[in-house]
Amino acid sequence: MYKIEHIGIAVKNIDEATLLYAKLFNRNAYKTEIVESEAVSTVFFQNGESKIELLAANNETSAIAKFIDKKGEGIHHIAFAVDDIYKEVERLKGEGFQAISEAPKKGADNKLVFFFHPKSTNGVLVELCQEIQ
Ligand code: ZN
Repeated sequence: MYKIEHIGIAVKNIDEATLLYAKLFNRNAYKTEIVESEAVSTVFFQNGESKIELLAANNETSAIAKFIDKKGEGIHHIAFAVDDIYKEVERLKGEGFQAISEAPKKGADNKLVFFFHPKSTNGVLVELCQEIQ
């Protein structure tokens, strides 16, 4: 597992948050993407080597809607870059970390993604991500 690829921040209003973070960073977002399978809108900012991913729910069944209901807006996950996501997922399952899904799937920003439950990582939702070649 390598660098922090991005940090995901759950927000209620993606347009307002995009403007706010553009002011904070003094830079515009480089990508806006809807992930239909997760019912989320995402916006990405590049900050040096790492990125910030804003996430907003597109409907009430979205995991982001549930997260905001429970915890409010804020840091949702930390994503680490990996070279071989399938191998790393197996390794971490073997170490006893609790997987959220069965297999890596296509997420935002041209990545294969996989999540480990915060219950097994001291309260932090951990994402592994690998660039799709
Ligand atoms: Zn992410």
